[in-house]
Amino acid sequence: MEIKQVSGPVVHKVAVIGGGLGGLATAIALRKQGIDAHVYERAKEFCPVGAGLALFSNGLNSLDAISPGIVENLKRASCQLNQSVFKKYTGETITQNTATHQEKYGQPTLVFWWWRLQQVLACALPPEAIHLGYRCIGFEQDENGVTAYFDGDKSVRADLLIGADGINSPVRKTLIGDGEPRYLGSMSWRAVIEYNHELLNPNELIFMKGEQKVIYFFDVGGGYRCWTLRVLMPKSPVHESAAEIKSRIVDQFSGWWEPLTGIIGATDPEQILFAPICDRLPLKSWSQGRVTLLGDAAHPMSPSLAHGANSTFEDAYELAQCLSESSSIAEALTTYENRRIPRTQVLQDRSALAEQRFYVTDIGTQDPEKAARERVALEEFQSWVYGYDPNSESRLKPWMEISVT
Ligand SMILES: Cc1cc2nc3c(=O)[nH]c(=O)nc-3n(C[C@H](O)[C@H](O)[C@H](O)COP(=O)(O)OP(=O)(O)OC[C@H]3O[C@@H](n4cnc5c(N)ncnc54)[C@H](O)[C@@H]3O)c2cc1C
Repeated sequence: MEIKQVSGPVVHKVAVIGGGLGGLATAIALRKQGIDAHVYERAKEFCPVGAGLALFSNGLNSLDAISPGIVENLKRASCQLNQSVFKKYTGETITQNTATHQEKYGQPTLVFWWWRLQQVLACALPPEAIHLGYRCIGFEQDENGVTAYFDGDKSVRADLLIGADGINSPVRKTLIGDGEPRYLGSMSWRAVIEYNHELLNPNELIFMKGEQKVIYFFDVGGGYRCWTLRVLMPKSPVHESAAEIKSRIVDQFSGWWEPLTGIIGATDPEQILFAPICDRLPLKSWSQGRVTLLGDAAHPMSPSLAHGANSTFEDAYELAQCLSESSSIAEALTTYENRRIPRTQVLQDRSALAEQRFYVTDIGTQDPEKAARERVALEEFQSWVYGYDPNSESRLKPWMEISVT
């Protein structure tokens, strides 16, 4: 299909499908470029979802480039991570690391209650740009525009449609049709609750490992903490009620450190959020004509490197830049893909690799020279990931794997 060249802004009206973190950030970025962007979200309201997440310098720098000053609001809505502690199941500290991202990369690590982050982003948009209760069921495009169809006989016409509709993206299904996400063999259960304990320090993340399971919990600010349990599980668990899930989790941690059993015990079973850990294989292209993908819809990755949302904010900034700098939609989307696919592909691959190592409890004795080389390689990689600066050409530098033999 041939797309007509447009003069002036390359797009005037954009329909963003999905009001998650990626969809909201993208609409903010597009509106800053003078584009009439609207978010269409299937949920009827934004609910206090029981998940927490970490944002690093690359994600925060991208948000700041999208909306200068927003990081100050984000700091007020989150908790700045000062240290991470690895503990035995009985609570004795094995290792303790002080956060160094501020000094190394210029931004702190902020840990959020997912819902609070969504609120900050939603508040940065005019209310009329967010359409709740709009479940996209398909789209059609021609040389003049794209029409998105929604439940209830609703439709919307736009110049461009962005699928920011998550790992099970219906937009991707129509566009690419590459089936279900790939199950990576583990499950997660998460919750955020108001909780304190005399043995828990503020601004801290605590990490504990057991046989085929990992649990971590962290302060998300305002007296709330998030706990996340990850369990190796070859198959999906049989259907269980919320109360059964909680009782199984309580049993698994019987005899563990008291603040941990305490936070699980204090959690309302209905607030526990379940998700299988999945990704998809990287794609060579995310776009066709007037439709493109972003965030988990484009490059879902295991959460083991905590980079799903961070890389989604990079996408949002880059897509808005490409649409404002190019002379046609085709050029903008090609540039967007060229800038984003190589980086997100590395993040997807490395996240899948980290997922395999996530549950290893015994790292064994290692050749010290090899261990030193691995440390250097890891530092190089981290500097490439976290050092991403949306205002610098260096952000487009590809990752060159350092071989450690
Ligand atoms: C256990 C776990 C821990 C994680 N921790 C981190 C972390 O610390 N740091 C990090 O960066 N990332 C983390 N992530 C990943 C992060 O949550 C995702 O990468 C991020 O939320 C992706 O944002 P998104 O907007 O692309 O998709 P989503 O957040 O999934 O949003 C998609 C939106 O689209 C809507 N939608 C779906 N279908 C339709 C439809 N048909 N019509 C309209 N709307 C629709 C959905 O309701 C949803 O609101 C974690 C993930 C997991 C599972």
